[in-house]
Amino acid sequence: RLTDDGGATLATPSMSQETEWEDSICYFVKKKLRVWCRPRNDQWELAKIKSTVGDEASVMLLDGSVMTVSTADLLPANPEVLDGVDDLTELGYLNEPSVLHNLQYRYAHDVIYSNAGPLLLAINPFKDVHIYGKDYVTAYRAKILDNPHVYATADTAYNNMMKDGGNQSIIIGGESGSGKTETAKFALQYLASVGGDNCELASKIIHTSCILEAFGNAKTSRNCNSSRFGKLIDIYYNPEGKVSGACIKTLLLEKSRVSQISRGERSFHIFYQMCAGAPPAFKDRLNLKLASEYKFLNQSGCLKLNGHDDAHNFEKLMEAFDIVGIRLEDLEHAFELLSAILWLGNITFTVIDDEEHIEVVADEASRSAAKLMGCKVKDLIAVLSNHETAEPLTLQQAIDKRDTLAKFVYESLFGWLVGEINKSLEGDEKHTQRTISILDTYGFESFQKNSFSQLCINYADERLQQHFIRHLCKLEQEEYEWEGIHWKKVELEDNQECLDLFEKKPMGLISILDEGSNSSKATDVTFTNKIKRHLSSNSCLNIERGTFKVRHYAGEVQYDATGFLEQNSDTLKSDTIQLLSTSRKELLNLFASFSHEQSVGVKFKDQLFRLIQQLENSKAHFIRCIRTNTKQLPGMYEKDIVLEQLRCSRIREIVQILKSRYSIRLTHQEFANRFGCLLSESIICMDPLSTSLAILQQYRVPPHTYQVGYTKLFFREHIDVLENFRQEVLE
Ligand code: ADP
Ligand code: MG
Repeated sequence: RLTDDGGATLATPSMSQETEWEDSICYFVKKKLRVWCRPRNDQWELAKIKSTVGDEASVMLLDGSVMTVSTADLLPANPEVLDGVDDLTELGYLNEPSVLHNLQYRYAHDVIYSNAGPLLLAINPFKDVHIYGKDYVTAYRAKILDNPHVYATADTAYNNMMKDGGNQSIIIGGESGSGKTETAKFALQYLASVGGDNCELASKIIHTSCILEAFGNAKTSRNCNSSRFGKLIDIYYNPEGKVSGACIKTLLLEKSRVSQISRGERSFHIFYQMCAGAPPAFKDRLNLKLASEYKFLNQSGCLKLNGHDDAHNFEKLMEAFDIVGIRLEDLEHAFELLSAILWLGNITFTVIDDEEHIEVVADEASRSAAKLMGCKVKDLIAVLSNHETAEPLTLQQAIDKRDTLAKFVYESLFGWLVGEINKSLEGDEKHTQRTISILDTYGFESFQKNSFSQLCINYADERLQQHFIRHLCKLEQEEYEWEGIHWKKVELEDNQECLDLFEKKPMGLISILDEGSNSSKATDVTFTNKIKRHLSSNSCLNIERGTFKVRHYAGEVQYDATGFLEQNSDTLKSDTIQLLSTSRKELLNLFASFSHEQSVGVKFKDQLFRLIQQLENSKAHFIRCIRTNTKQLPGMYEKDIVLEQLRCSRIREIVQILKSRYSIRLTHQEFANRFGCLLSESIICMDPLSTSLAILQQYRVPPHTYQVGYTKLFFREHIDVLENFRQEVLE
């Protein structure tokens, strides 16, 4: 049953709690109702109970086989009429197998979106499901379609903004590879075009994704097109609801990928696209070779992307640049620097003494890099061979200094590009009062080897998870409590403990890292010792030798502390800055002025705080993406993997809270003002609470549909009856 008929009632005794379940088993036997059992392994299966003896039940599975199970291992299943309901809150029973079954039932019918109250769940189909594009946008806008869909969520945000003028945000969460970026693009497509009229601006906004993905996405072991940066895009609307501009803000790019890639992964798409797709004359000018000839690209043994043609994607990228309106001459300088980065990676060193001091080899690599960077070969060589003090570097130091330069240029280039895009999205008149923002971040990651990038990524994910839980449920439950209404509290574990691990004052992970990076004596080992000393009482931390484990809300991750301090400090040496600022390339002069003192962790924390603050000032619409397998395959629903994600993000508890929530709230005053006209004049002069109660009684609003709090009235649904009477009175 995939359509929504809302009114389906359960032919079961009223049973809100599963503790009462055991008493109802007889009823399930008599009525031949479905139950969940686990007769064979850990997987739940549907069955009907044939008989019970003591605490054992004989059950018949769907395939006709009969088994004996303990009654303690049975759970009630929803009747078939509820199979595949649009909204999980409509399910009578919310146990894990029931929620899982509903999602799987829909997925099997290619219905990838479901609601859990206001929350949208999106299951990654890993195939084209043909439910997007102009016609669908129109249909959801006109409410011809209103089943769960990212367009429907975007539409709600748009309508809210138009109705009360407040800023809205669409926050997309989920693990790496679960479909956040694709979902964000669909939302963007809807919101850029829904205001109508300004097609050129809409098209510009939509095409920014192609550019940002080329420069900020890469193949990881989880996802062929994994975002290696976080992105918040603000879409501005004028008072008529037409798109008037947009602005993109990015969060920490994983620049370590420029010089270091794990086996089977790739660097940022743009490098491969450029090597494969640049026209011959362009290649000549940039002295550009095949991707396989560059160390930065060939080190991982993976140059191609299954099912993607880099050369073709390069063409699409150039079209996108054209549409977004970034000038070709500016781009040429950017491409020179990309080529310079690749050549930097090919620069080699000869060891000249026992202490591993080196000399830079003066070959095509160093010559090309210097030429493309607009500096003298001897100056580049000097910077890569010596300390600022002119003492010679050791091999490792030289490699680090070279890589730091390459990463800095790439990161600056990315920042510059975002700036250029924003300039072109600004629009003529800037109406920034009404905004809808879409947030798409990296999502929780856990690999075999997890480094500083994963620590930052997972920290951001924790922060957003807290925002998610708080806004979807916690604040709501707190309000009920505060208002003193009758409410059965659902315990929701939050992740404050894990956030404390990162942010605790004065000594959390971020500040310990920062101190370490600023001190010449600190090493990766002293860092690990220090977190042990200061944070071992935090239950989310577990330290063993060189590694430490953090228990994130989405799972435990083991981090390898090697190189943490260096990656966190990330400052350019003064001679490197000098090299850039005296270059003949204006872009590099500009980048030299970007150079900063703050450590990565501290900067990232500030960025995150500002982001969360912006989100706090908007009405949030949440989308949770879910992947059904780790192999990126269609039609493969691995229950364990889905369940794990539902559990981590507390979907079942959230559904439970949302199921019995009071979605409409009005202060006594608001209610009395609005519906006071329904009472005869003699009564209205009393206080708002008495007026409200009098209205509710006189119009026989069923008591189970509302509750009276200290300052507010809470209703489960829209108060249509009263609204209708009010219309009549006013007419
Ligand atoms: P995330 O951003 O969460 O890491 P992506 O959005 O990049 O994940 O999705 C990973 C891949 O899954 C995409 O490249 C695409 O192949 C597939 N995918 C995701 N969402 C959809 C969708 N709605 N329809 C079809 N394929 C999808
Ligand atoms: Mg992504």
